Amino acid sequence: MKKFGFLLFLFVFMWAIPNYGHAASAGAQIVLDGKQINVTGSAQPEIINGTTMVPFRVISENLGYKVNWNQGKKSVQVSNDDTEIQLAIGSKSAAVNGKKVTLNASPVIRSGSALVPLRFIGEQMGLDVSWDSSSKTVTLITQNSGSGDGETTPPASGNDGNDSVPSEGLALVNGISLSDNRMLITTTGTAKPNTFTMAGPDRIVIDLPNAAFSNTFRDSLTLSQDLSGEFAVMDNENVTNIRYALFQDNPSTVRVVIDLNKAMSYKAYNEGNDLIIVDLMEKGSETTAPVGDGGKKVVVIDAGHGAKDPGASAGGGRNEKTFNLAMALKVEQVLKQNPDLDVVLTRDDDTFLELSERVKIAKNLNADVFISIHANSAGSSSASGTETYYQRSSSKTLANTVHKHLVEATQLTNRGVRYGNFHVIRETTMPAVLLEIGYLSNSNDAAALFSEDFQNRVAQGIADGIEEYLGVN
Ligand SMILES: [Zn+2]
Repeated sequence: MKKFGFLLFLFVFMWAIPNYGHAASAGAQIVLDGKQINVTGSAQPEIINGTTMVPFRVISENLGYKVNWNQGKKSVQVSNDDTEIQLAIGSKSAAVNGKKVTLNASPVIRSGSALVPLRFIGEQMGLDVSWDSSSKTVTLITQNSGSGDGETTPPASGNDGNDSVPSEGLALVNGISLSDNRMLITTTGTAKPNTFTMAGPDRIVIDLPNAAFSNTFRDSLTLSQDLSGEFAVMDNENVTNIRYALFQDNPSTVRVVIDLNKAMSYKAYNEGNDLIIVDLMEKGSETTAPVGDGGKKVVVIDAGHGAKDPGASAGGGRNEKTFNLAMALKVEQVLKQNPDLDVVLTRDDDTFLELSERVKIAKNLNADVFISIHANSAGSSSASGTETYYQRSSSKTLANTVHKHLVEATQLTNRGVRYGNFHVIRETTMPAVLLEIGYLSNSNDAAALFSEDFQNRVAQGIADGIEEYLGVN
């Protein structure tokens, strides 16, 4: 029925709207699983803002996804069994399974057909999408979907013949972050780092053979069409820049480069299956032990939200993600002074991390406790105060202990220790709590939350609670 509705619409639309002139830019070639797709009809693929746009007929006919057109809303819905994408003509904002995302280019109407961003849709649907700018070719590879989450084991290097299409058995790099002198690379599947240094300028090179960027990598860091990118590192006395790229196709190899101010030593190692850690050390003092070594307790601090996901807002640009990060950094500073603790942040800047990535970091580190920091929001501006959430009963003592110190520090209404079914405290395996420190929707709470004194006091309170719970105060 829906398909029929669409066809009917297209028919009407084609007659109702005068033909738009084709854009000057040449169209792109599309290759699906090694076969070139011929786009028939007057609407042809186009490159808009560096994004390959295709008539959405291509999506339904060649990729087999369900496509529905809503004439009233001028919106397109693309779906398969587990993903639903909503796009609207002329709008850069789209939704994937109800979650808002921003596109590089908005869908447009050409010759009576909607053009939609091919790469975005392919990636959301779990295809391997790559782009060759010289031949203007988009290559789509449908992946075998037989394996479970995160259980893909890469083949031992070199034993895989000369398969030139690296789509199976690869470890997927989901995110890269740096906190002080420690870099975290989160993956799905194990990647064994090959690491070496180069001079002039000084840098450390980490090669991950049998690895590629995951479809969600772009959610946290920029990745250009040639599959490379970088970010500048602020406030770090040793590191200036982090660069990354798909360095080589066969075997598919991801290269990460740490640009340094001076020559440094390093230690690179796997923590669990899905996490690579690179610790930087001053030359001559190569003593940094792996996380949790020597009986240290491992504390993971998780600043909620980040980047495209700002969380709650208090207005005036005061976003929850900013508050959460400021708090996490302050708690880290306090806890770092305790020689019995190793502190790891899930993010230490304004990046986006999936909830599952946050959990993965804690699990792979065998963390002793996991603390997620948030601020609340309610429909009524009168709601105010501090809450601590636990999900598993094994987290209750941690919740009680941290909450006692937290409430004393916030001096806001004590809204108590509560059960909350949040992903990060449910899916983690160690005692885990989620702190809602105050309400951004309440003007008194919000003013406090963004004050430096309050943040310092509360960071000390949270740290006191963690230390008391771990018996390391
Ligand atoms: Zn939140």
